[in-house]
Amino acid sequence: MQTVTLNNSVEMPILGFGVYQIDDEDVCEESVYNALMEGYRLIDTAAVYENEEAVGRAIKRSGVPREEIFITTKLWIQDAGYESAKKAFETSLKKLQLDYLDLYLIHMPFGDVHGSWRAMEELYREGKIKAIGVSNFLNDRLMDLIVHHEIVPAVNQVETHVFTQQVENAQFMEDHDVQIESWGPFAEGENNIFNNEVLVSIAEKHHKSVAQVALRWLIQRGIVAIPKSVHKERIIENFNIFNLELSEEDMQRIATLDTKESLILSLNDPENVENLSKMTLHD
Ligand code: NAP
Repeated sequence: MQTVTLNNSVEMPILGFGVYQIDDEDVCEESVYNALMEGYRLIDTAAVYENEEAVGRAIKRSGVPREEIFITTKLWIQDAGYESAKKAFETSLKKLQLDYLDLYLIHMPFGDVHGSWRAMEELYREGKIKAIGVSNFLNDRLMDLIVHHEIVPAVNQVETHVFTQQVENAQFMEDHDVQIESWGPFAEGENNIFNNEVLVSIAEKHHKSVAQVALRWLIQRGIVAIPKSVHKERIIENFNIFNLELSEEDMQRIATLDTKESLILSLNDPENVENLSKMTLHD
């Protein structure tokens, strides 16, 4: 498996499997199990997805040695703050049936993220987490965390796909040694992505699918991608991108699709901040 090296030398697979919006526990367990059987070694979940237990069961059932799998989960807004973050971390670990995490992310840049980060730095130093990072942090939020703490986030997971390419933000992250990770690599199916003319013509030329081109384009830029699917044939398809090489011309054509704006979740829209902050986990 091709990997990226994080700022603390931890190796992270460049392609993984995401489980957002897989609400049915059995479907989630089966999908993660299928992904692990197909060779995926990075699984991305979050407390707020409410499927950490199903992910944990799939990992156990797969029989893949723990040290071969890279598990990410995320701290939700309601658990922001020093004490709450420590408690939420233990809850996630228990649900996942793990004794350490590979990557723990602050899911959203809202609430007491500085308290959360202090807790995460301690958990990292205790060896309970291999790497700590953030998600949905715009550059100013990222810098706020960098300048006020000792540990620089290893990863920033942000909306990144052909319509929201994050070119300048990716450069900012690279300049500060933060690995960019894409969420929504297929733009969650929006904008008719799978029938996009540019992508279809590149896919046809390489005898690949649009999904494979969209993923290959990300990893060729050095961006970690975590596509989600509940269909076994798509899980296989999405993993089969290592024998594809996009040309400079293909990359340039895809660059023209960038809208430079968020398509799915704008993070500086006060209404979104309010609505997300009202979303709570059920116990
Ligand atoms: P996505 O991966 O961009 O898109 C998933 C959609 O694409 C599903 O409808 C899926 O349908 C379909 N699909 C998958 N493979 C396909 C293929 N080969 N051909 C055609 N359709 C295909 O969206 P996402 O799940 O939102 O993003 C991926 C992961 O990123 C999430 O699962 C989650 O782990 C993470 N994420 C993080 C955040 C954050 O705030 N940090 C936000 C969103 C997502 P089927 O399932 O029916 O196949």
